Amino acid sequence: MNRVSRRLAAISESATMAISNRARVMRAEGRAVISFGAGEPDFPTPDHVVEAAAAACRDPKNHKYTANAGLPELRDAIADTTAALGGPKVGSDQVLVTNGGKQAVYQSFAALLDPGDEALVPAPYWVTYPDAIALAGGVPVPVPTDDTTGFKATIDALESATTERTKLLVFVSPSNPTGAVYTPEETAAIGQWAGERGIWVVTDEIYQHLVYGDAVFSSMPAVAPEMGDRWVIVNGVAKSYAMTGWRVGWMIGPKDVVKAAANHQSHCTSNVANVSQRAALAAITGPQEAVESMRQAFDRRRRKAVAMLNAIPGVACVEPNGAFYAFPNLSGLLNGAGGGFSSSLDLSAAILEEAEVAIVPGEAFGAAGFARISYALSDDNLEEGLTRVHRFVDSMSNT
Ligand code: PMP
Repeated sequence: MNRVSRRLAAISESATMAISNRARVMRAEGRAVISFGAGEPDFPTPDHVVEAAAAACRDPKNHKYTANAGLPELRDAIADTTAALGGPKVGSDQVLVTNGGKQAVYQSFAALLDPGDEALVPAPYWVTYPDAIALAGGVPVPVPTDDTTGFKATIDALESATTERTKLLVFVSPSNPTGAVYTPEETAAIGQWAGERGIWVVTDEIYQHLVYGDAVFSSMPAVAPEMGDRWVIVNGVAKSYAMTGWRVGWMIGPKDVVKAAANHQSHCTSNVANVSQRAALAAITGPQEAVESMRQAFDRRRRKAVAMLNAIPGVACVEPNGAFYAFPNLSGLLNGAGGGFSSSLDLSAAILEEAEVAIVPGEAFGAAGFARISYALSDDNLEEGLTRVHRFVDSMSNT
């Protein structure tokens, strides 16, 4: 018998966490590492949210469990804001408050997938999707995309990856890791295709507030009525409200699926921390100015990052329109380019050790030859970090 179950032994540490951990160790050794690795805003949580949480801490009613599926007032507020932001109209009994969007992702797969069911995952994908699908007993099926199509999956590509075992499609727009944002027309067309095929869609809307330029967020269930009720929305406060550490997310879907996920959650984690739920309530119902000012800061950094990346010889970066990631193509720096690197994995490791800059190699996202750069760091660090990468690349061509 195995000491560690086969199910868990097959799961690897999240590559983004691994890079962040290595950067942390180097920093502890006194090295001035600049990290483009983490997917979290560098801002503190807005003051009014922190104040609401502090007040909640002092009220003994918040020292207790809440209902397993979440505070009723938070579930109501999530249903209201989802519709107000262009999403579908739902009842609060269709909302389950989870320990971050990540738990919502996992519980959605656990609620929908039977062993052997296939889940289409457009690649480059967020690292968690394939592992969470596999943990839930499903089979992740990557659907390749690349920078020539702005990293967007086409209906043809989805169609050719579909089999009679296909149960669901994972959709994320704005995207981690590429920053791609599908237009409302593209979103509607994919939703219509899924509806006609009877395929469920788990649509991850966690970056809904972070769109730039002409890009607009669109919620697939709202723009593609052909889907019927075969969809689950994943969302949370982490990215838009700088609340990664508070651990509040949610899933929204048909009542039977949400009820099944709530039962599952009742045996795993019960309710989300009561005080955190109060904080999330303040975030989504309170003043929204901080969301907009953070968005503007990310937009400024986005433009700077893309310009600086494209100025590096051998690097080509399509303009991301959402989230806070850029996904440059590094293939011009591999195989035959000065440094002797044959993979983005090796190149990223050398950039970390020698330039003391952490980027996440594309291999982690099913896209060798690329890397993910999170630009949710200070303007000064962004500039210094990409200047170091540029210098490192210049030194490669001199070797
Ligand atoms: N979905 C996507 C696409 C993400 O990038 C993340 C965070 N990296 C999450 C969900 C989960 O966020 P959290 O668990 O912090 O709410």
